[in-house]
Amino acid sequence: MKLADTPVERIDFFGHDVFVKRDDLLHPEFSGNKARKFRYFLDHDFPDVKRLISFGSPQSNSMYSMSVLAKIKGWQFDYYVDHIAKHTLDTAEGNFKQARLNGANMIDLSAAADRLGRSCETYIEDLCLQNDKATLFIPEGGHCGFAQYGVSLLAEEIVVWMKAQQLEQLVVFLPSGTGTTSLYLSAFFKANLYPIEVMTCAAVGDSDYLKQQFLALVSDPACFPTVLESDKKYHFGKLYTAFYEMWQHLNETGIEFDLLYDPLGWIVLQSFLTRNDARPVLYLHQGGLLGNASMLPRYQRKFNLSLK
Ligand SMILES: *Cc1c(COP(=O)(O)O)cnc(C)c1O
Repeated sequence: MKLADTPVERIDFFGHDVFVKRDDLLHPEFSGNKARKFRYFLDHDFPDVKRLISFGSPQSNSMYSMSVLAKIKGWQFDYYVDHIAKHTLDTAEGNFKQARLNGANMIDLSAAADRLGRSCETYIEDLCLQNDKATLFIPEGGHCGFAQYGVSLLAEEIVVWMKAQQLEQLVVFLPSGTGTTSLYLSAFFKANLYPIEVMTCAAVGDSDYLKQQFLALVSDPACFPTVLESDKKYHFGKLYTAFYEMWQHLNETGIEFDLLYDPLGWIVLQSFLTRNDARPVLYLHQGGLLGNASMLPRYQRKFNLSLK
């Protein structure tokens, strides 16, 4: 299983040179930043654990990677969701389908009589985690301290590459969901005084929400990445013509990007590049391509597009 040492390629992006760190080329079952965030669990033994519990969207990349982790470890995997949309049940491809094939036990709380208005997280805390050594709980999207281990290994790889390229400074750019990856990258570079600035944008919620997510993991704001604003407001998981057009433009580089986070990432990066101070930029490809199998048909239905 390839879990480290991904190549870096240079692409031309609207006349700007951008380096792309190809973490999408990690093992397909454990790809992108989920491979980095969950690396700790692969490298360590959990002799008492028999069951993994998490929650979130029934389409998420994180759920899929956790289903693979549970399969490798021989754990039962209970995944709690708010509800499951009909189009999710109907899609033949993508994270939901593959997680089910890996044995994920999807628990739809919209049907739970004892939910009493609780969020998934509170429901799990109240009813599923009573001093149970056999249960490992991973918060939504892997937003937890365990992620620091694998993300720091990624940060070290970037430093080794930067030195080999003899670059004196670097901007590392990546779009954020929970912000776990961008935060721990930034914290690593700052703690070790590397001249690398991590820049990101909020794909989920707004910049304030993202900063709250940072604060939940690291108390010192000096460690935080720089959060760039997008010119327009986009809602996570919604479909936008501008996203699809950016995605198609990126396809011309020969690298496929994800349809959920990357279009926003590149839109925000494009605007940054017009005012960049000539520092080299490394875009972190965070994988997530299995999710395109369910996102692309949604785009095609919505905009009546033909598949390319
Ligand atoms: C999960 C994911 C993200 C968000 O990662 P965070 O660490 O939660 O910020 C971004 N891009 C892709 C492709 C992902 O799968």
